[in-house]
Amino acid sequence: ESLINRIAAGEIIHRPASALKELIENSLDAGSTSIRVTVKDGGMKLLQIQDNGSGIRKTDLPLLAERFATSKISTFSDLSQLTTYGFRGEALASISHVAHLSVITKTESDTCAWKACYEDGSLVPVKAGLTPDPKPCAGNEGTTIIVEDLFYNTPTRLSALRSSSEEYARILDVITKYAVHNSTVSFTCKKGGSPSADLSTPSGSTTQQAIRLLYGHSVAKELIHVSEQDDPEAWSAEAYVTSASYQAKKIVLLLFINNRLVDSSRIKRSLEAVYSSILPKGASPYIYLSLHIDPRSVDVNVHPTKREVHFLNEDMIIEDICDAIQEALAGRSH
Ligand code: ADP
Ligand code: MG
Repeated sequence: ESLINRIAAGEIIHRPASALKELIENSLDAGSTSIRVTVKDGGMKLLQIQDNGSGIRKTDLPLLAERFATSKISTFSDLSQLTTYGFRGEALASISHVAHLSVITKTESDTCAWKACYEDGSLVPVKAGLTPDPKPCAGNEGTTIIVEDLFYNTPTRLSALRSSSEEYARILDVITKYAVHNSTVSFTCKKGGSPSADLSTPSGSTTQQAIRLLYGHSVAKELIHVSEQDDPEAWSAEAYVTSASYQAKKIVLLLFINNRLVDSSRIKRSLEAVYSSILPKGASPYIYLSLHIDPRSVDVNVHPTKREVHFLNEDMIIEDICDAIQEALAGRSH
């Protein structure tokens, strides 16, 4: 059974960056305004994320890493209210099957923090010789998730990973994108043992300020803001896109649907088509696009961690957005 769980977990958690993405989502869902990431060996040795969110109640700790243990849906009708895809309660469970998982957490009403460790979905002792239940410890309000030795028991996953520097680059990429989309939240990322952060954003920035800080002035100074919305408010889109004066070698696309970083090859192709008429061959834009869609129209059968998404009236919505961007770009060039 544990082998099957491990294989299933490997389907959800592909690499350190995909584990981190789930952990960032959880921290944001908990209302955090500060998210600090520490990484050792490209996330294979250590992936630690400390937030200042709501914390986890002590009574919720025993089942935290159980599959489908989620605080985010309590009734079936809640399903239609969900605004994220990360609702299946599988992330922490999956991580516990392929890594050593520890949690230190404190809620507003706790007088101390609690530490719990997990393996294969269940609590294990924090220290050898102790009982497996959570133990009191020092800690600030919020949650620290510590993931150690990722894929220690899944050699095929481990061997599919690239160098630690490449895995670290993917981690930084994920944090950078979430930091743009959540510009009011402060993010940092550093390598374990290093005194200085490789990425650091202040809290309370605007989207443009975050883009300037993370992608540079050459991108930020060419940004055009586009916002578009459907009449009965079935969907709305907000974008920052570069004008024709900005020419990158490769397209940079930050696509968020209902606050989750996703891929859509259809959206990407359509955006590339918009720019193909205004940019010289070989030149590409920078695009940040945040789309909110009625969660009922997002394909709930798509697995939460499959990043490629589909939604109702996809073609029509994409066309509307692309038209709006095209118009904004044309307005800028006159
Ligand atoms: P899901 O996010 O789909 O509910 P997860 O496995 O990602 O499932 O997380 C399980 C539960 O653990 C969440 O529903 C939430 O209640 C709790 N949780 C996880 N991370 C945090 C965090 N950083 N702060 C507060 N609660 C958390
Ligand atoms: Mg989650």
